[in-house]
Amino acid sequence: MEHLIGLLIVVLAVSGSGFAADTGGSAGIGAVLSESRSYAVPAPQAGPVPPAIPANFPSFSRKVPRKLRRQVLEDLAFIQTVEGSDATPLHKKIFGPAPVNGRTYLNFFTSHVKSITVGDCGGGPSAIACVLEEAPKQMRLGAGYIEFDCPQIARLDTLFHEARHTETRHDGWPHAICPTPFKDEQGNDVRGLFSGKLMAGLDACDSTPFGSYGFSLIMLKNIQKFCANCTEKVRMDAGFYGDDNFRRMIGKKTRKAIKEDIYE
Ligand SMILES: [Zn+2]
Repeated sequence: MEHLIGLLIVVLAVSGSGFAADTGGSAGIGAVLSESRSYAVPAPQAGPVPPAIPANFPSFSRKVPRKLRRQVLEDLAFIQTVEGSDATPLHKKIFGPAPVNGRTYLNFFTSHVKSITVGDCGGGPSAIACVLEEAPKQMRLGAGYIEFDCPQIARLDTLFHEARHTETRHDGWPHAICPTPFKDEQGNDVRGLFSGKLMAGLDACDSTPFGSYGFSLIMLKNIQKFCANCTEKVRMDAGFYGDDNFRRMIGKKTRKAIKEDIYE
C-alpha cells in the first residue's frame, strides 16, 4: 500500500470562477491529510526574464508531459529571480541570512526534491500533489495540479509545501488535525474558501511554524512584504495564499509567533 505525505486535493468551485483545493495530510508519514485551500482566478504572470535552471535540477519521469515540465521549470525559474530587501526572523531561521533571495529558494527545492513525476495521490482526480513514503524525495503531481489553472504563486505554494514534506528527518513534517469545532478569531467556522467545507477535524492544520503550511506561509508573506522586483500581482497573490496558510496554523503559541514575525 502506498503511503502519502501531504496530499493535496482540489474540489471544483460551484461558481466556476475559482476552485477550492482540499489538502490531504496525516498524522505522520503514511497518513493522509485532509485540508482545504483555495486558488483564486487564474491570471497571467509577468516578471523578469528567468535565468537558466541549474544542472542539479530534479529529474522528470518520462510520464511528465512536456507542457507540465515547462510550467514547473518556468515557475521555479521565476522564483529564483526574486530579490528582497529584508526578511523576518522566522524566514532567517528557515532560509538563512536576510534578505529574501530567490536563489536560496531554488537551492532549497533542488536540495530536497530529487525527482518529479505524475500520478495518483490517492484522492481521486482532484488530488493536487503528494510525497509518498516509499519515495520520500520524489514529488508526485496529481491531476488536480495539472488540470486547474491558478496563479503561479499558488503553484509555487504547492511545490514548496511538498518540498518541505520531503524532510525525512522530521518525518515529513506531518500535519496536525484541525480542532473541532474550528473557529477563527471572530468566532466563525473555518471553511475552505471556495468549497465552503468545514475544516474542523481534518488533517489540514499545522501546530508549528516550521511544518509545510507554516514554511510556505513564511516564504510567501516575506515575498509579499519584501520582494523588490515582483509585480504588484505577485505580491498580492503571495499575501493571499500566505494568509490562507495562516488560517491552518493552530495553537496559541504558534499563531502568536507567526503574528509577531510577519503580521505585526
Ligand atoms: Zn501537506
